[in-house]
Amino acid sequence: MEQVVAQLLQELGEGVVTPGEAVPERYWNDWAGLEPVPPAALVRPATTAEVSVCLRICNDHRRGVVPQGGLTGLAGGARPEGGAVALSLERLAGVEEIDPATATMTLRAGTVLETAQAAAEEAGFLLPLDLGARGSCQIGGNLATNAGGNRVVRFGMARDMVLGLEAVLADGTVLCGLNRLLKNNAGFDLKQLFIGSEGVLGVITRAVLRLQPRPRSRAVAFCGLRGFAEVVALLERARGGLGGQLSAFEAMWPGFYDLLTGRLAHLRAPLAGRHGMYLLLEAQGYDPAHDGARFEGFLEGLFTEGLVEDAVLARSEADIRDLWAVRDAVAEFPQILGRHVNFDIGMVIGVMDDYVRACEPRLAARFPGIRAVFFGHVADGNIHVVTDVPEGVRPQEIEAEVYDLVRRFRGTVSAEHGIGTIKKPYLGHVRSPEEIALMRRLKRSLDPRGILNPGKVIDP
Ligand code: FAD
Ligand code: ZN
Repeated sequence: MEQVVAQLLQELGEGVVTPGEAVPERYWNDWAGLEPVPPAALVRPATTAEVSVCLRICNDHRRGVVPQGGLTGLAGGARPEGGAVALSLERLAGVEEIDPATATMTLRAGTVLETAQAAAEEAGFLLPLDLGARGSCQIGGNLATNAGGNRVVRFGMARDMVLGLEAVLADGTVLCGLNRLLKNNAGFDLKQLFIGSEGVLGVITRAVLRLQPRPRSRAVAFCGLRGFAEVVALLERARGGLGGQLSAFEAMWPGFYDLLTGRLAHLRAPLAGRHGMYLLLEAQGYDPAHDGARFEGFLEGLFTEGLVEDAVLARSEADIRDLWAVRDAVAEFPQILGRHVNFDIGMVIGVMDDYVRACEPRLAARFPGIRAVFFGHVADGNIHVVTDVPEGVRPQEIEAEVYDLVRRFRGTVSAEHGIGTIKKPYLGHVRSPEEIALMRRLKRSLDPRGILNPGKVIDP
């Protein structure tokens, strides 16, 4: 047995450490669809102190450590490549405290997002972070990727919900910053180093999250529009017209709508006719007696102004689920498209449709027969592109085309999933050489031996 694994076993025990050959395959990979690789060992600590011991030993042995949350990441960031030790946070789970007076929740990194949402709800609050992977992804993974999701337009990204963080540095030092104050300007805001840095600067072990009052009304409509100009005009209306209640604004280009409603037996197409764009609009409020009427009035105004061609309004919880099901059907892409590539690009909303109109023919010309669909959180400047991978084509060739066009539109190669392994070659499309040099200096300063998630995001 390797010395580092023997020492991990000796100090942490068999209940925490599983040597390489016995590690179940589920820890070999995340959702990005790369080739699975076995780790040198799997470590599953149940306390921050055990995380610290694991990192100290691996740092002494100069052995790579790959933090793992729910393994739903789409950038290859949690794959334990290069003979690294996999450090799963799944046993460091649970909500420790909900404090109604400060409206905060203190929880451990391995808590599954859905569990945290349910705990907040039970206490009369809303944890606004929400994404399709909610049943598997963990708070630690959400913060390490600065996850976005469906409610960013109202509540911001994961980063915006964090007040305090506990993290462990590469050498095992524990930084306990479980701040609950909304305002705390005493020195650098160190937690920001760990949020969105995909496990390359430290391991997140606990967090204090900000909660919102639980909404008491929810209205959802699915709209058909003539084109993208109407989507932009509708967004401007919805920001003010819904009295600050706009909570989701999800657009779908026709190729996406046709593919999903045509191929999935359980999905009913919400609208009878065909439209240039489709939009899912949601508002959440605190005045159930009047919110429904306000939403309906808003929709009627859209018809009068000619901003929507058709729309269906949810009349029940079941309707709400059915309308969201179209957008949430993205989880079925593996079934529909087989081998596919997933993009989370971003750009200002004003050029988004021009991007789609440039990208579609470019991909079709370069990869005959390719299927590409476009949808996403357009109010956040974020679109998802999903393409299949035609016979004889490498995913990297498709990526190069999509990202080259993103650079021309001055967009970003990652609006929400992170850089991980897959997008590393394209970081320079978005960040300047000076910015990347500073990222490297930070990495060297926090992790001088380069053990934390080696090979991800940036090379030292
Ligand atoms: P993992 O995949 O396990 O890890 C992700 C990265 O974080 C890795 O680099 C890992 O090393 C690091 N990491 C994990 N835990 C820690 C920790 N405790 N400390 C330090 N580093 C850590 N993402 C969005 O942003 N918006 C969406 O709408 C969205 N929808 C999705 C829908 C589906 C169906 C799927 C499969 C994925 C979706 N994702 C989305 C991507 C993914 O769910 C998110 O990136 C999520 O935040 C990852 O969490 P995880 O716990 O699974 O992390
Ligand atoms: Zn998304």
